[in-house]
Amino acid sequence: MASPATPNTMDPDHYNTYISHMRQQQYPMLSGPSPETIYLDHAAATPAARLLLDRFHSSMLGSLYGNPHSASPSSMNSSQMVERVRQRVLRFFGAETGEFDVVFVANATAGGKLVAEGLREGEGFGYVYHADSHTSLVGVREVAKDSRCVGDEGVEAWLRELEEGELEEGEGGEGRMLFSWPAQSNMNGRRLPMEWCGRVRETARKGGREVFTLLDAAGLVSTSPLDLSDADAAPDFTILSFYKIFGFPDLGAVIVKKSAAHIFDRRKFFGGGTVDMVACMGEQWHAKKSGELHDRLEDGTLPVHSILALDAALDTHDELFGSLERVSRHTAMLAKELHDGLTALKYANERAVCKVHKHAASTYGKRKTQGPIVAFNLLDAHGDWVSNSEVEKLATIHNIHLRTGGVCNPGGIASALDLAPWEIKENFSAGHRCGSEDDVLNGKPTGVVRVSLGAMSTMGDVERFLEFVQEFFVCKVPPEPAPMPCPVRGPQQRLYVESLTVYPIKSCGGMRVPCGTSWEIRSEGLAWDREWCVVHQGAGKALSQKQYPRMALLRPHLDFKSGMLRLTFAGGGNEISVPLSRNPALYTEPLKPRNASVCGDSIETLTYSSPTIADFLTLALDVPCTLARFNSTSSTLRHSKVHLKPAHQPDPSIPRPLMLSNESPILIITRSSLNRLNETIKSHGGKAAHPSVFRANIVLAESSPGFEQPWAEDEWSSVKFGGEGPRLEVLGGCRRCQMVCVDQESAERDREPFSTLAKTRRVGGRVLFGVHAALVEGRGKDVRVGEWVEAVGKADGEDGTSVQ
Ligand SMILES: *Cc1c(COP(=O)(O)O)cnc(C)c1O
Repeated sequence: MASPATPNTMDPDHYNTYISHMRQQQYPMLSGPSPETIYLDHAAATPAARLLLDRFHSSMLGSLYGNPHSASPSSMNSSQMVERVRQRVLRFFGAETGEFDVVFVANATAGGKLVAEGLREGEGFGYVYHADSHTSLVGVREVAKDSRCVGDEGVEAWLRELEEGELEEGEGGEGRMLFSWPAQSNMNGRRLPMEWCGRVRETARKGGREVFTLLDAAGLVSTSPLDLSDADAAPDFTILSFYKIFGFPDLGAVIVKKSAAHIFDRRKFFGGGTVDMVACMGEQWHAKKSGELHDRLEDGTLPVHSILALDAALDTHDELFGSLERVSRHTAMLAKELHDGLTALKYANERAVCKVHKHAASTYGKRKTQGPIVAFNLLDAHGDWVSNSEVEKLATIHNIHLRTGGVCNPGGIASALDLAPWEIKENFSAGHRCGSEDDVLNGKPTGVVRVSLGAMSTMGDVERFLEFVQEFFVCKVPPEPAPMPCPVRGPQQRLYVESLTVYPIKSCGGMRVPCGTSWEIRSEGLAWDREWCVVHQGAGKALSQKQYPRMALLRPHLDFKSGMLRLTFAGGGNEISVPLSRNPALYTEPLKPRNASVCGDSIETLTYSSPTIADFLTLALDVPCTLARFNSTSSTLRHSKVHLKPAHQPDPSIPRPLMLSNESPILIITRSSLNRLNETIKSHGGKAAHPSVFRANIVLAESSPGFEQPWAEDEWSSVKFGGEGPRLEVLGGCRRCQMVCVDQESAERDREPFSTLAKTRRVGGRVLFGVHAALVEGRGKDVRVGEWVEAVGKADGEDGTSVQ
């Protein structure tokens, strides 16, 4: 009778089908809600299978595991299990018990640290690390006597110098050395040569030097086998994290070649677990454990339950996937499709959509040189970089999980993006604002988009991701030419104020200014706008609807009769209120304002001390938080940092102070642009956007409905209210993120209007809707709903002469 197909024997198509079905059973978290989850961040963490967790539960419940190292049955049960799993780990990597030992640590980084500290406490060491290293390996340089970062050619040059004994003082001229490199780059998935191990050992012998090798296998082993069966060609130290292979447990290991174990002989620290006997009173004497290496290095109680889970993980992985070899073939096939798909995308003008950051030495489909990760940047049809934060925002609303930015790989990023150290420093000092929106600086991206595949990824994931890039970045709906109504467009556009809204508490609901009520405009915006914010009790950060959509359900009301700000929560509960006047007794440590942060800026706020307020907000948002008020007496007013369009440079000498709003004092949208946007959304079957999602202060509408001029605001330089009213200068377009998808009534998220905006309103890498504005004339004057407004176009010149 033919034996049933096991995962190991299936052909690629069958295997992919098998994984898709198995995944529904075993990985319910990947089926997710709608829109369906597309998880492409396996290089960061991969999920754990149901079977693994079930097994772990049954072994926890089925047997008693005590603290190891004593004689009770439960303790011995643990000791035996731990030693058994240790041996399994060695077998998993083909390593001989006689040659290697496994030391359990928290994660790969902790493993590298252990090795570095062992060497440092000896006689110190010179450090050479490959430029593709994860930050985990870069930090080792700080405890070395000297260090050097090398690329492939640098490795060859260093090996030559080592062989010929030409190393000088300050480049590892004497004493021990440590050479480290990642088996697979966590940035672009490049698999680096394993041969370096044997070559370094051989060269060191010839040069009469003591050089140790440290291999970071954390990236590689998540989707590839690692074979340590040839001890002569194996690294002295191999570090890895098991959660990257199995999703669980959160545990790491260093696999130590016993011939290199003596680097730990001078280790000074000891603690429970690594000491046999200690005298403390009077004489300070101790006898360190002398047994196996792991006994000497595993300080404190072992992570027994994690090791037990590792046992279950090893069983499960075999059963569900066959072997790491099978996983490797499957993911290599998917990665090749993904890479080929992305590089094939072209604009109508033949320009490439994607710049993939592949290393010259690697080829997708050749598993020895390339793992299942693709790092890239997108370009627009003119060849300009698309901001990664834009990619991330769109991915987020489509439930696509990917990583953007520096991905913990400084050397890899610098060479992929051709960034010199000074540029990196400059980018750093340019700051990290609101999710680093400005991620294209000086014409270069500051980070990459990384998509990475794992054992349970499928061809479906790859296809859906390619469709996503195609849909949102390649075939955008062409911006419709605005049908020009009869040329009534005179020198000035005639509009009126349809609504005015203030947002007393940043990121919470708005309060519509009632018809007939006059409202003061100040240089920092509409009176009472963003005076308060909700701050995290621990971090002090101002909370935003982007992370906490339920903030939309917090509805503030300015009650001038009673002099109170009242706050209700649409999700239920009672109401709280705070006086509009500033009473110092209400705040915690009134003399010491706290710094909250808004969009990366530090802001002085006064935090309310009332537990009732904190409880109300904490219950509503399900995060420990409370209310704070902007300390307007402080001198730390922030200033607007709206990105000005080069064609239009408002006078920089006019200060534009900000309260707690993100970018500018006042946000304006127009009804006709909103109508146009909604027509487009509806024509694709989407849900029209309510004006409230844009959280504008002022909605302007055309006076004659037949003559709507959508997107006219793109060309405005200023707007003037009434005859003698205030004049606002238009600073530039408002950059949008997925927050516009939060329904302000229900706090639920949708894909629209951001999906359509991203397709139709991406201007220079930014998705724009509405304009920022600031007061330039008529301080302290009022505006009201229904009032006439004149918009002056950019081309009109200062005196408001003709447009066309
Ligand atoms: C993930 C990763 C690390 C870090 O692993 P930790 O578990 O965070 O210590 C190091 N190197 C590479 C190549 C990785 O992929």
